[in-house]
Amino acid sequence: MGWTCRTLSKINYFRKCRKLIVDNSDPIEKLISMLGKLPGLGPRSARRATLFLLTKKDLILRPLYMAIKNVLENVSLCETCGNACTDQVCKICLDPKRDKNLICVVEDVSDLWAIERTRSFKGVFHVLGGTLSAIESIGPEEINIIELQRRVLAENGEKELILALNATLEGQTTSHYIADLFMDTNIKVTSLAKGVPIGGELDYLDEGTISAALTARKDF
Ligand code: ZN
Repeated sequence: MGWTCRTLSKINYFRKCRKLIVDNSDPIEKLISMLGKLPGLGPRSARRATLFLLTKKDLILRPLYMAIKNVLENVSLCETCGNACTDQVCKICLDPKRDKNLICVVEDVSDLWAIERTRSFKGVFHVLGGTLSAIESIGPEEINIIELQRRVLAENGEKELILALNATLEGQTTSHYIADLFMDTNIKVTSLAKGVPIGGELDYLDEGTISAALTARKDF
């Protein structure tokens, strides 16, 4: 028995609907797809966020669009340290009160922001923009390690490099690589202390953290 016209038109209708759902040329679907690429947002939350934006067009969507446009047109990376800024050189690098001989090396701008939030660091930064990774074929040329070497060796003064990279395998590999790079120089290389977090209970810590805390113990 053949297909009736009615059945065929039904099939075409569903095909059209399906095409519309996955059609990236549809502006709403495109927005969902782009929001879904943000960290922490899956397809479901991207859909919810899109619907929220559509219902708050003037209150949220338009100001968000303007904010993104502004960032896109005006924000770039500081040519000295790699921080996100609106000028060639960021405010931290330009600040005369900052100790230019104390350079904190971080993986990403988010790490720089985290340290800045403490308001306790008075030096400057160097953002690597990633870590070395054999699996992902990321070598020293892919991140700002060569720039760090050039920067540190070009400037005068007794410098200290504080390695504030994440306590991951890649972070630690990168730290060792940088430490080796400056081994035969008069640059002092230090790293963040590792151990018991403030408010932390020993019973809840992993063996690696307790072991690092024991090794990095200091006079009471
Ligand atoms: Zn800077």
